[in-house]
Amino acid sequence: MKIAADLHIHTISSGHAYSTLEEYIAQAKKIGLKAIGITDHASTMPGGPHQYHFSNMRMIPKEIRGIRVYRGVEANIINNGGEIDYAEDDFTDLDIVMAALHPVPGCYSNQGKKINTEVLLKTLANPLVNVLAHPGNPKYPIKVEETVAAAKANGVLIEINNSSPFSRAGSRDKCVEFAKEVKRQDWQVILGTDSHISTMLGVFEDALKIVKEAGLAEKHVVNTSLAKIDKWLKR
Ligand SMILES: [Zn+2]
Ligand SMILES: [Zn+2]
Repeated sequence: MKIAADLHIHTISSGHAYSTLEEYIAQAKKIGLKAIGITDHASTMPGGPHQYHFSNMRMIPKEIRGIRVYRGVEANIINNGGEIDYAEDDFTDLDIVMAALHPVPGCYSNQGKKINTEVLLKTLANPLVNVLAHPGNPKYPIKVEETVAAAKANGVLIEINNSSPFSRAGSRDKCVEFAKEVKRQDWQVILGTDSHISTMLGVFEDALKIVKEAGLAEKHVVNTSLAKIDKWLKR
């Protein structure tokens, strides 16, 4: 299975990542990716950019030196209402709004499987949200079947995050469980590297192993072609 686009990438704007947009473009060309998605952390993450970073993304061309550039954010779920720390204003026009649970000050913190799931279901109903990032994090136990059903009902993709097995220890089994449930419910995933430096771009080795282990086919993986990505974004 060949992945055409990496749509979970952090630039130096996230405050704890180490490459620029230009460096990611150069790397994408080098390794033969067709597209990248810039999804810096929203403002609650320590070091994260101001909302103006996201509203000003309209300045970024949709294509740079032959690489399609999708504009996005990795927003934080911040409270029991499932709200995220990103909202559209007159100037924002993002393609990708990922929602994620992060154990950092100011964000929603673990309250057990039942409440965590209720909160996520509220987030998934937010019409802005179109990807649920790294839901396999064992720091936030959640009910897999209900979460995938709600994601499917709302057109939200489940991310299989290539960084989870090492940056969120203990994630792997849960990631496989999510992938299997996506197959069972005939829904879709998106693979993301969660790159924090350009050398991580397009390296999907662990995520592809999880996809294979769960028996997901190419039709279940949205970022295998730009046509599929654009069709999903129009939902
Ligand atoms: Zn994250
Ligand atoms: Zn990320």
